[in-house]
Amino acid sequence: MTAVVNPNLITDLQRFGGTDINACFSCGNCTAICPLTDNDAMFPRRLIRLAQVGLGDELVGSKELWTCYGCGMCTDRCPQEADPAEFMGTARQYAIAHYDRSGIARLMNTRPVLGALFATAMGLLFAVFFTTISRHQNPDVLRLFEFIPYEVVHTTGIVVMALVAVFSLLGIGFLARDIARRDGITREQLFGSAEARRRTAKALWYALGIESLGQKRYREDCQDDQPVEPLYRRRWLIHSLTLWGFLGLLAATTLDYGLDILGIKATGTPVPIWYPVRLLGTVAGLALMYGVTWFMIRRRERAGQPGGRSRPTDWLFLWLLWLSGLTGFLIEAALYVEPVQTWAYWVFLAHVAVAMELCLFLPFTKFAHAMYRPVALFFYGVERERSAASA
Ligand code: SF4
Ligand code: SF4
Repeated sequence: MTAVVNPNLITDLQRFGGTDINACFSCGNCTAICPLTDNDAMFPRRLIRLAQVGLGDELVGSKELWTCYGCGMCTDRCPQEADPAEFMGTARQYAIAHYDRSGIARLMNTRPVLGALFATAMGLLFAVFFTTISRHQNPDVLRLFEFIPYEVVHTTGIVVMALVAVFSLLGIGFLARDIARRDGITREQLFGSAEARRRTAKALWYALGIESLGQKRYREDCQDDQPVEPLYRRRWLIHSLTLWGFLGLLAATTLDYGLDILGIKATGTPVPIWYPVRLLGTVAGLALMYGVTWFMIRRRERAGQPGGRSRPTDWLFLWLLWLSGLTGFLIEAALYVEPVQTWAYWVFLAHVAVAMELCLFLPFTKFAHAMYRPVALFFYGVERERSAASA
């Protein structure tokens, strides 16, 4: 593969909010201190070097970009104050924009005002759409899916998910192709024999189970805030609770939909707190709110410090998550108190609009790391399996 040199790469990265990485003189301190670097993934110095020499395609197609959890330890040890942790975060946003062929991610990252206007317009568009199709507000009993017909919410959700799926699958496919090319991994090596398939399955389990769900290396290796921080505000815990909360809510929504199709329980019908799907949704919602709230607090605390810069899309992602959780709980509360709280109809409308926007922005905001990181971790797992086999 011919390497294409982009002489404006560092300038372009700075448009995504990065620091001037030219201050780096390649001493390697950052790589030495990084708890996640090893023979199968060396960073951040190597990636900084790629940026300095303009190898943008190499940079975005590096699995190491997604193996970093942004702990900031490398920045603390950099003698040049080049802020390598900030560079890694910026390069990830740059990669998200690179793999989004619509240009929306680039717009939202490099033109904050336009991006904010676009996000606001999308939210309003959903709100106006649901307002125009909303029906009467029943003042006697709270029937949310009479106010906004269930079929409309369902069909809009399917359209949004289809759009998201197209952009996400394209991005995931391009990233997987680039990492495989860069690391010299062929289809034959992944699936060509029973042994290859066994190693591929192990790498998949490593990426999805051990790392994405279990957060093993984040929990055990990233000791940046231990023992300084109490357990309740450690980074791996708030990251895990946010992820588990989001997945739990997704599972509860899907199960609720399944129960409706099977005719067991109509969506939106009040059920006791111990009803399994409701219990799952409540616990997951609490976990999500807890994690996102601490993310926001920690971001504000780190503002102005090395490695503590936030991009507008970081905040957009957090606010959408937080608002979807808050409006969800307000609706939950309104469903179970007497007399009927008619404001809940408008909270429901806001909840649906925010949830739709959150899903729609998956491939364009920081949210996208949730789909790219498992791809990179899969190839990291493949590399580990290959290293173990040849040892
Ligand atoms: S980013 Fe800093 S610590 Fe890392 S290689 Fe460059 S100068 Fe050294
Ligand atoms: S931010 Fe943490 S995980 Fe990322 S490169 Fe720096 S030390 Fe490694």
